[in-house]
Amino acid sequence: MARVVILGAGIAGHTSALHAKRILGKKTEVIVISPNSNWNWIPSNIWVGVGKMKKEQVIFPLAPIYKRKGIEFHQALAKSIYPEGNAKSKKPYVEILYTDSAKKDQVGTVEYDYLINATGPKLNFQATPGLGPDGHTVSVCTAGHAVEAAKSLAESISIMKSGKNQKIAIGVGHGTCTCEGAAFEYTFNVEHELRAAGVRDMAEIWYITNEYELGDFGVGGMVFTQQGFQTTSKLWTESLFRERDIKAILGAHVEKVEAGEIHYELVDGTKDILTFDFAMLLPPFRGVDLQAFNAKGEDISSEIFAASGFMKVDADYTPKAYEDWRAEDWPSTYRNPSYPNIFAVGIAFAPPHQISKPRKSPNGTLIAPSPPRTGMPSGIMGKLAILSIKELLAHGPDAQVPTASMADMGAACVASAGSGLTKGSAAAMTMYPIVPDYIKYPNTGRSGPDTFGEIGLGGHWIKFLLHHMFIYKAKARPGWSLIPE
Ligand SMILES: Cc1cc2nc3c(=O)[nH]c(=O)nc-3n(C[C@H](O)[C@H](O)[C@H](O)COP(=O)(O)OP(=O)(O)OC[C@H]3O[C@@H](n4cnc5c(N)ncnc54)[C@H](O)[C@@H]3O)c2cc1C
Repeated sequence: MARVVILGAGIAGHTSALHAKRILGKKTEVIVISPNSNWNWIPSNIWVGVGKMKKEQVIFPLAPIYKRKGIEFHQALAKSIYPEGNAKSKKPYVEILYTDSAKKDQVGTVEYDYLINATGPKLNFQATPGLGPDGHTVSVCTAGHAVEAAKSLAESISIMKSGKNQKIAIGVGHGTCTCEGAAFEYTFNVEHELRAAGVRDMAEIWYITNEYELGDFGVGGMVFTQQGFQTTSKLWTESLFRERDIKAILGAHVEKVEAGEIHYELVDGTKDILTFDFAMLLPPFRGVDLQAFNAKGEDISSEIFAASGFMKVDADYTPKAYEDWRAEDWPSTYRNPSYPNIFAVGIAFAPPHQISKPRKSPNGTLIAPSPPRTGMPSGIMGKLAILSIKELLAHGPDAQVPTASMADMGAACVASAGSGLTKGSAAAMTMYPIVPDYIKYPNTGRSGPDTFGEIGLGGHWIKFLLHHMFIYKAKARPGWSLIPE
């Protein structure tokens, strides 16, 4: 019986796990290793972070779902991969550290035939002194963080209600952050909540980002086609900021955060301080702390993982100037070149290049939004790994496996701009492909008809529907597999 081991039960890993049982059938053993007992629909953390949803509405326990589906679940952190096995085990295996109360801190080993690394990001708050919940800013990256963010925002609102102005700072906390879309979303939700609370005139709202221009979103911006006309995500986003009187600091690397002060450097090398009463800054991401060892026990982590800590897959990692990269440099099978029975999907794979143009300040500081890997591609990759394993099991190691490159994949991003079934709104953006291809689409790198943006109440309903649909799917309720990734 073949064994598929999945590290991580987020969007990519959980999608892999559910499809594995459905597609590979009873003859395949499926094991999930993940440190948290709950699944989290991360996109809705934004609403938890403004107090519009409770934590319980965005999480649910994984164990009952896995029990119902015949999937073995180890609540544990993967620590090391032994892709060749060693004296202890002839088969490849993973060393894990249990995190559940019954087995806490016990070490275990789990052998595998196929390994799917879906461990997502390490939230690297440590990269910026003073950043994050242990420092001076809040976060919405986990449901727990979002609860704290909502509390802190509520305090600011009550201070405003008592007649004192507040300065709000939202954005990204390092020059190499990704997920600017989430920071944008939180900014607009906070603005919406302040209006709803009747205190908007008491607040100054600042958006601080590593993006060189508004609307970059880590994908180098987009050219939208709207009613037959072309416009850019820059113009579109600038207009949204102007309408809501949100000020922006662009091309910024946050150096450190102190109580009430964000110290930053701009692309032109100038340095300044943004003072704040409430600040939500996203951390930069890196790969989780996984190591790899060969049969002799030698550390091969640098062969398996990129310097960013993310796992190497079938991408072209040759160092190149930004202008020289091509769409085909992006991976399409997500298999590790040294050990093709290992896949890395979702945020866990190492992207070959930045999509958004990287810049350096005259002081040598890198200010470069990292490529986003949003929910839809993460789910698609999770399923792809299982479809590939099906082919490998049926036809052996040389089997032709399916492909899905981000240079040949679209993404729909619905950024909430305030919740409420009658008063909510959202900015809905669609792009195809995610990684621009200037050979196929010489003008803008993307397909005109398939790249567009719209804002309105309809977008909020879509976002709300997606929340319920994806939680339904993740709970593996009847017909779940008909809901696309
Ligand atoms: C605030 C916020 C809002 C967002 N909004 C949107 C949105 O509106 N739309 C959208 O498409 N995307 C959105 N995203 C991005 C989306 O959440 C990610 O694309 C998605 O979660 C990536 O899936 P993943 O499975 O790669 O990582 P995750 O979902 O982060 O899952 C990683 C999993 O690995 C586990 N893990 C970590 N370390 C280990 C280890 N050592 N061993 C085993 N398991 C481990 C984690 O516990 C987790 O279960 C948002 C992100 C944030 C932070």
